[in-house]
Amino acid sequence: MRVDGWTAPSRTVFSYEETIIGRTAAGRAVSCRFLGDGPETVLILAGIHGSEPAGTPLVEALHVHLRDNPRPVEGRTIVLLPAANPDGISNGTRTNAQGVDLNRNFPAGNFRPRKGNGGQPLSEPESQALHDLILGRRPRRIVSIHQPLSCVDYDGPAESLARAMAAAGDLPVRKLGLQPGSLGSWAGETLGIPTITVELPAEASRLGQNELWRRYGAMLLVAIDSEGAQ
Ligand SMILES: [Zn+2]
Repeated sequence: MRVDGWTAPSRTVFSYEETIIGRTAAGRAVSCRFLGDGPETVLILAGIHGSEPAGTPLVEALHVHLRDNPRPVEGRTIVLLPAANPDGISNGTRTNAQGVDLNRNFPAGNFRPRKGNGGQPLSEPESQALHDLILGRRPRRIVSIHQPLSCVDYDGPAESLARAMAAAGDLPVRKLGLQPGSLGSWAGETLGIPTITVELPAEASRLGQNELWRRYGAMLLVAIDSEGAQ
């Protein structure tokens, strides 16, 4: 679906496309949005763990903000994936419908084949879709929003970006350690893409979209518009 003609107060116009990049085991669409069509791609996703719900409305709030304030989209393609694990979100589970933690299912060197991680890397349609999206678009930065550890973690060459985002969101930077087969292990360490894991606090689940944006929106804008972040 292509939607044209968004007009902001500045008269800047950008279009966005909603694209289905995969289907879950239960048949739900894994759907992402491409805002703008500039050369620098930034990927922001939420809900890879379905039991960590606050990131999804925060990404929706980012979309609304960029519609009304499109300057950060200039020269960029912002890719939003608000629900990376639609079955898990629907079921309220960390894993997908097949009981696999998608954030352990990427083809990093530290992948560990065991129950709950998938028998092999990319055994799951959701991780395959995200993998293909990243290899196809080669984002300059990736942000994945989780809960409830209340910190900003990073993998790959992203320390300065992590510090800038943490300051904007009033969260500490914490290195949580490389998790086997995680998105950070693969995209950050294997591919060398600056990859940020935002851990919102548990209580963020109780906040409405506007309050989530008020507290954590600036952090996402830093990720999009980071000068010299690497
Ligand atoms: Zn998580």
